[in-house]
Amino acid sequence: MGTIAAAVAAGQEVPCVGPGGEAWTSDDREDQELAADRCLDCPALALCGAYASLAGERAGVWGGQVRESGPVRAHRKQGVRPKKRPAPGPCTCGCGVMTRGGWYVSGHDGVHLAALLAAVRRRELHVSHAIGALHGTPGLQAKLRQFLQ
Ligand code: SF4
Ligand SMILES: [Zn+2]
Repeated sequence: MGTIAAAVAAGQEVPCVGPGGEAWTSDDREDQELAADRCLDCPALALCGAYASLAGERAGVWGGQVRESGPVRAHRKQGVRPKKRPAPGPCTCGCGVMTRGGWYVSGHDGVHLAALLAAVRRRELHVSHAIGALHGTPGLQAKLRQFLQ
């Protein structure tokens, strides 16, 4: 996520941020395909695609791909379904430190939430992507929504 914010800060265009960004969460197949085409110009393309695969995103357009079409939009709006992480994996905040099986290294959940909130407030990140980045942690997703009200 930091990469998307950095790209925007550096004056690079992230196509899903800004005018026409609704196409990335549209239910319309044609909108989705046009959005996916526009992803190809995105400086965060590889990271975004990797994130979507890792998170098992099944709705919307991520990293140049339509993850799925159909009535999944409402689902996405409510946040990505929580998933259990069975094994140790990298901290969700993106710091690269391995966890012992949770989503975050201790204390990194708050840091991640604050960074996502700041990026959304600066209009550098879609709310839907910020919520997606907090997949598996409904409590943080709820806090994000609450802070943005
Ligand atoms: S969905 Fe991902 S790859 Fe596509 S424009 Fe947005 S950040 Fe870039
Ligand atoms: Zn971390």
